[in-house]
Parts: sequence; structure tokens; C-alpha cells
Amino acid sequence: MSTSVLYHAFNLKGITYRTTRFKGDVIEYFADVKEEYIRCPKCGQRQYTFKGQKTRSFHLGPIGRKKCFLVLSLHRIKCSTCGALWWPSLPFMVGKHRFARSFALIVLDLLRFGTIRWVADYLGVGWDMIKEIHKLKLQRLYRNIHLHKVRYIGIDEFSIRKGH
Ligand SMILES: [Zn+2]
Repeated sequence: MSTSVLYHAFNLKGITYRTTRFKGDVIEYFADVKEEYIRCPKCGQRQYTFKGQKTRSFHLGPIGRKKCFLVLSLHRIKCSTCGALWWPSLPFMVGKHRFARSFALIVLDLLRFGTIRWVADYLGVGWDMIKEIHKLKLQRLYRNIHLHKVRYIGIDEFSIRKGH
């Protein structure tokens, strides 16, 4: 495995591959943030110091029947020019979610063939993560609906009381 395989297979931009760990049915790729992706969000400068460290783990699509994760070592950055403090964010990240963008795309592909429960079981993740990805997609799709063109609204399955 290498930086370029991670880029081409999982669309992981902005990282440098370090090592791989095989553990049961899990493969973990360890990596660091590339220096050129670190730039002050306030003043644009590239002089900085590290102020704190954490590790974030991201779900990737499976290889064969193995679950894959990116384990990214992150430093909190302090801008030497303006003093701003921030955690670097990379193009494959989706907010604070614990999956890479390419994982979300696989989920959306699979949801064309099965239910949220089915996709969650197949990928070995919680129902709520699949539901969240589905919700993000719906929000993106239906953010800009013009209501003045709506003539009918359909409502699927609602209850007035528990058990109805
Ligand atoms: Zn700055």
C-alpha cells in the first residue's frame, strides 16, 4: 500500500501513508497530514507550530471482506503570524463524521439495492451511520426546492400515538 494507492482507491488527498496494520477482519492504514495542506484559514500564512495532537479514524470502503480504516494523526496548528488555532481539515472529510467521503459514496451506491439495515450489516457499521449518510444526501438533493411549484405533498407512514 502506498500514498498513491490510497489516493486512487479511496480518493484520500492530503495525506502521507505511514504503515498498515492487519488485525482480524480489519485493515488500518496509518497516515499523516501533508504539510502543503496546512495553511492558516484566517491569514493564509504557512508558518506554524503544533499545539496538541489527536488521532482520528475514518471508515473506508472494504477490500475483499476486510473492513478498512484510515487512522490519521492530526496536530492542532497555531499560526505564527496571527495566532489562530485550528485542526486541519482535508478534502475527504465530511464535517466531524467518522467516514471518508468515498465511503459515503459506496453507501449511497448500496442503498440503491437494499435497506439502511442491510447496508449497515453488510459494511459492519451502525444503522445510525448509514442513516446519517442518507440524510446528508437528501439534504443536498432537496436543499433548493422551490415551494411555489409544489402542488401535492405525500406523507409516508406517520402515527398519532405509539403503536398506531
Ligand atoms: Zn494566521
